[in-house]
Amino acid sequence: MDDILIKNVLLFGKKSNVLIRGKRFGNIDAPSDAQARQVIDGEGMAMLPPFYNTHTHAAMTLLRGYADDMPLHQWLTEYVWPFEQKMTAADIREGSRLAVREMIKMGTVFFSDMYFDVEETIDIVQEFGMRAAIGMTFMETHSKAQQAGKIDFLKHWVDPTGGRITLTVAPHAIYTVGPDMLQFCSRTARELGLKLHIHVSETLKEVEDCQREHGTTPVRYLDKLGVLGPEVVAAHCVHIDAEETDILAARGVTLSHCPCSNQKLASGIFPYKMAREAGCRITLGTDGVSSNNNLDMREEMKFAALIAKGASRDPLTLPAHEALEMATRNGAEAFGIDAGVIAEGKLADAILVRLDDECMQPLHHLVSNWVYAANSSIVDTVICDGRILMQNRQFPHS
Ligand SMILES: [Zn+2]
Repeated sequence: MDDILIKNVLLFGKKSNVLIRGKRFGNIDAPSDAQARQVIDGEGMAMLPPFYNTHTHAAMTLLRGYADDMPLHQWLTEYVWPFEQKMTAADIREGSRLAVREMIKMGTVFFSDMYFDVEETIDIVQEFGMRAAIGMTFMETHSKAQQAGKIDFLKHWVDPTGGRITLTVAPHAIYTVGPDMLQFCSRTARELGLKLHIHVSETLKEVEDCQREHGTTPVRYLDKLGVLGPEVVAAHCVHIDAEETDILAARGVTLSHCPCSNQKLASGIFPYKMAREAGCRITLGTDGVSSNNNLDMREEMKFAALIAKGASRDPLTLPAHEALEMATRNGAEAFGIDAGVIAEGKLADAILVRLDDECMQPLHHLVSNWVYAANSSIVDTVICDGRILMQNRQFPHS
């Protein structure tokens, strides 16, 4: 691993020379004559933490624009599921490749995935140098043999990247996975020390069906089953009440808020202020491209902030710096990645954004511009694990 020196880059309000040694930040205020194998001219750019996308379905890039502007249930049963039944492993490979390229171009270095044929996605993540938590998806519709294969894979897979990729146990949702399998997934995740990734309370229909079938709401149902714990990453959590936010906070569950997907599918509004005040760990996800229709975490920050302000009628709710933390540090922390902030000793994940673009001028406030004004095309360079994944918007390793 080569050392990298990034010279004259704007960091914490002043021009700095940032030295990366191996996988970690060595000195974030190095002398300009510091020695390194590779030097990047950071003049006219700012260094920011990159994005950690905590909920997506990468290969669903293949469904971009395939079915828009319809109710979630119809969208899922009449379009998404029939399309997916025809997808081959080769399709998933190409969908994952498209997703990974798009994510890197938009400044993302990590995603938590939930899909099928995971080996294809793992290969692409390895090739492009990103980080990922790849979900082994469990659904009742899968055969016993398929499930046994997944368990075997979870138990015996070895990360070929030396720490950039982990697996997660991913029961799809309470309406596709029964109580026994939910508990089995929970036990498996705990035994293997893995995260458990699940959709929770995404729509009102899910909550109403749960009330009818189980006599309670999804969060209370999962809690009764003993599934909720600090290893759980719950995507959406749109329809939750005050007591449920307290339960989620008490169990240490990570919430993956997906504002664009929730608005596009008209699922409802995540109660950000209530969840934040309850002490929940809140991260950001894009969800799949089929309901977004991109993987742009910068857009998620802006949507999250604007929706939370509008819903609470309080402009102080979810300020720009908090949106950035949610999309960066909170996501890294939730998955135990020692990164997400630019600091000496931390894993060297960073992006360089161009400040000469019209959307970044004038530069009264960098984070405000990045969250509210910019677009992701100003991401010039992406660094992950001390390695350059993109420079001048080009992929050096592909
Ligand atoms: Zn999803």
